[in-house]
Amino acid sequence: MDSHLIKKGNEPLGESVANLNGVGEETAQQLTDMGIVTINDLINYLPYRYDDFRVKDLSEAAHEERVTIEGRVHSEPAIQFFGKKKSRLTIRLLSGPHSVKVTFFNQPYLKKKINVQDIITVTGKWDRHRQMITAQTFKLGPQQGEEEFSPVYPLKGAMTNRVLKKLIHQALNRSESFIIDPIPIEFVQRYRLLNRRDALFGMHFPANPEEMKQSRRRFVYEEFLLFQLKMQALRKIEREQSRGISISYSEDDITAFTARLPFPLTAAQKRVLEEIFQDMRSPHRMNRLLQGDVGSGKTVVAAIALLGAISAGFQGALMVPTEILAEQHAESLNQLFSPIGITVALLTSSVKGKKRALLLDQLAQGEIDIMIGTHALIQDEVNFRNLGLVITDEQHRFGVNQRRVLREKGENPDVLFMTATPIPRTLAITVFGEMDVSIIDEMPAGRKPIETYWAKENMLDRILTFMEKELNKGRQVYVICPLIEESDKLDVQNAIDVHMQLEQFFWGRFSVGLMHGRLHPDEKEKVMKAFSENEFHILVSTTVVEVGVNVPNASLMVIYDAERFGLSQLHQLRGRVGRGSDQSYCILLADPKNEVGKERMKIMTETNDGFVLSEKDLELRGPGDFFGRKQSGLPEFRVADMVHDYRALEVARDDAHKLVESQSFWTEERFEPLRDHLVEEGILSGSKLD
Ligand code: ADP
Ligand code: MG
Repeated sequence: MDSHLIKKGNEPLGESVANLNGVGEETAQQLTDMGIVTINDLINYLPYRYDDFRVKDLSEAAHEERVTIEGRVHSEPAIQFFGKKKSRLTIRLLSGPHSVKVTFFNQPYLKKKINVQDIITVTGKWDRHRQMITAQTFKLGPQQGEEEFSPVYPLKGAMTNRVLKKLIHQALNRSESFIIDPIPIEFVQRYRLLNRRDALFGMHFPANPEEMKQSRRRFVYEEFLLFQLKMQALRKIEREQSRGISISYSEDDITAFTARLPFPLTAAQKRVLEEIFQDMRSPHRMNRLLQGDVGSGKTVVAAIALLGAISAGFQGALMVPTEILAEQHAESLNQLFSPIGITVALLTSSVKGKKRALLLDQLAQGEIDIMIGTHALIQDEVNFRNLGLVITDEQHRFGVNQRRVLREKGENPDVLFMTATPIPRTLAITVFGEMDVSIIDEMPAGRKPIETYWAKENMLDRILTFMEKELNKGRQVYVICPLIEESDKLDVQNAIDVHMQLEQFFWGRFSVGLMHGRLHPDEKEKVMKAFSENEFHILVSTTVVEVGVNVPNASLMVIYDAERFGLSQLHQLRGRVGRGSDQSYCILLADPKNEVGKERMKIMTETNDGFVLSEKDLELRGPGDFFGRKQSGLPEFRVADMVHDYRALEVARDDAHKLVESQSFWTEERFEPLRDHLVEEGILSGSKLD
C-alpha cells in the first residue's frame, strides 16, 4: 500500500524494517505478519483508536463516561469480601471541589498501597448519580503528560503497542524528510490541511486530541481524494473511449405523450427526465443510475425515455430480473404505447419455438421498437437492428457482466439503471462513483402512506383478527418470514410452518399460497400469478417476493421476526402493499433484544421515506451490512468513515472530477504522485495519458 509515494531519491521509505535498530529476525517476522515490510508500511500503519487518560473535570463528565481523575485520598481504604475470591475496596477521593467514592474490585492488595493523604490518579466509569467511580486503572501520584493521550494499534501475535510505537518513532525520524505529499498544494491550502509529514506525526504522537483530529482530517481527505480520483478517471476514460451516440429525439412526440398521461408528472420526474435527455442528446454514452422509492413512478420515466429513443429512430430494451416483472412491464408499456403505434414485445425463456424465431427476426429487422425481457435478452441469438437505449430495472440484481453484455448489443447505446433501493447518497457516490445519479425524491400527490405498526409475538391473536377483517373486505394479505424451514440454530418463524398454521386457521374460508426461494422458478411464477389473480388470498413468502411485484389488491403485510431484516429491506418489502387506492397496513412482528433493534422498529413506524430509512440503516448497521454481507464489495477506508465523513467524500469527489478534467493534471509534474496512484490501481498504463 502507498508504494506510489516511494520514488527515486526517497529510498529510506522503501528500506526494509529489518534495518531499524532493535529489529531482529523475530520482530521482523512479526511485522511481516502484520503486513509491514518497509519503513513506508510502518509509518503508514495507523492507530485505530486513542486512549484518553487526560484528567477530566467531573462537572463536565457524562454519566457512565470513562474518566481519569486526580485527587487526594481522604479516607482509610475500607474492604469487603464476598466469598473467597471476590472483594471490593472503597476509598474517598477529594478531587477539586468533588468528594468522590472510588471502588476497586478484586484488588485487596491495594489496601496496603494506598494511604490517606496520597495523591493518586484513577481511571474508571463515572456514576454521576452516585458520585462514584468504578476504577479500571490506578496509579500513585499525579497524571504524567506523555501517557495522557495515546494511540492504540491493531496488533498481531506477540507484538506490543509499546514496541510498535517505538519502532514507528524511529522510522518516522529516519524518513520524515523524504515523505511526499500527493495532495496538490492548492487543496492543502484551501482546506487548511496538515501536510503529510506533520499529519503522520500527529496520528502517531499527538500532543492532544485536537492535533490528532487535524491529522485525521487530512487523511480522511487523502483517502477519499485518491479513491474518487480512481472513480473519476475510470469514468472519463470510459466516456472518451466509447463514443456513444447522440439521440435527436422529438420534443413534440414527448410533449404530446406526456399530455395524454392520466396524471401530471411530478417535479422530480420532470427533473430526472431532463437529466436523462441531456445525456441522450450528448454524444457521450449515458451511464446513469435512476433511484426512486417504491411507487415514485420510475416506470413512466423509463417509458418516456424509451419514447425519446424511438422518436429518433432507435430501438429500446428493458431488462428486468423476473418473468413476472417482465410481463407486468410489457402490459403497462403496451397500454401506453399501442395507441401511438409503437410495438412492444416480450422475450422470456418461456417464449419458444417458432414464436421465438419470429420474434427474434422481427427484432433484427427493426419491426419491434421496444423489447422487454429477463436475462433472456442478453443471449447471443438476440440481435437488435438499431439499439439506442437500454434500461435495466432493479439493477442491483444483475451482475456487472450481464449489464455489460446488454450494452454491447448495440453501437454503444445509452444505459439507464433503475433501482428502488434508495441507496444513501454517501454510498451512491462511492459504489456508483463512476455513474451519474438521478434521484426521484418525491411521491405522486394523493398517495395514502402505508400505516406501519410494531407488534410483539404475544399479539398474534389480534393480528389474525385484523387479517380476517381485511380479507373479509376482499383484500389480500402478504405474510413474510425470514427462513424457509425450521432451523435448530435460529428461533425464527419459517414459511412452511406459518403456511401450515394459517391454512388451518383459515380453512374453508381463505386460501393460502406458499412461496420461497427453493421452489423451481416456474413454480414461483405460478404461485405469484395465482396470488396476483386473487386465487390465493394470503401469500406466505420468504423475501423472494421483494422485487417489483405489483398486486394492487393486497392491503396488508405481516412481517415475522422483522428485527432480522435491514430497514431498507423492510421498506422494500412493505412497498408490495399500498399500490391500490385503499389504505394499506404493515405489521412488524418483532421482539428486538437491544436498543438499536428497538429504535429500528420505531423508525419503521415513523417514516415512509426510503432515503431517510436507508441513511438510518447505514448509520445503525454500518456500510458492510447495507447490501447484506454477501454483496459488500464496498471500498474499505483505513481512516475515513463513509457515514460520518460524507461531506469530505463529496468535496473530494468534486475535486477529483475537476482534476481529471483539467489538462494540467495529465501533464504537470506536480501531479505525478497522483497519476502514479492511478497507474498502480491499473487504471492508467503509464503515468502520462498518451
Ligand atoms: P416505481 O416503479 O417507481 O415503483 P411505478 O412506476 O410503478 O413506480 O408507479 C407507481 C404508480 O404510480 C403507477 O400506477 C403509476 O401509473 C403511478 N404514477 C406514476 N407517476 C405518477 C404521477 N406523476 N402522478 C400520479 N401517479 C403516478
Ligand atoms: Mg418499478
